[in-house]
Amino acid sequence: MNAAEFNPMAWIKDAPCTGATDLFFGKYKERPQTRENREAKARAVCESCVAIEKCREFAHSNPVDGIWAGENEEDRLLSDPAVPLNPEPLRIIKRSEDPMVVAALEIRAKVENPQQKAS
Ligand code: SF4
Repeated sequence: MNAAEFNPMAWIKDAPCTGATDLFFGKYKERPQTRENREAKARAVCESCVAIEKCREFAHSNPVDGIWAGENEEDRLLSDPAVPLNPEPLRIIKRSEDPMVVAALEIRAKVENPQQKAS
């Protein structure tokens, strides 16, 4: 077994996002326009990253927050309503008025609690 097999995130070692924490993760109470601008720059970095597929696979399997593989929390939720999410980003997402996000959250709630009756 080589070192990469021991470290499930070995692929990130040489990724272009290394050290760019402020670009890939928002600050507490970040303004929406600031977030949009920051995330656009982060997505542009991801576009040229050779690790993007492994990164996406990791982000869809772990409760990460921020931009991973060019996706933010809403993107991950929309592609898979049951994706693991950190409580804090999930709290923010739940305030979204985007109908697609609202629908994904409803699907998520049904997956988490299949006994729940439709309201
Ligand atoms: S796809 Fe983006 S977030 Fe993922 S390792 Fe590459 S640069 Fe970093």
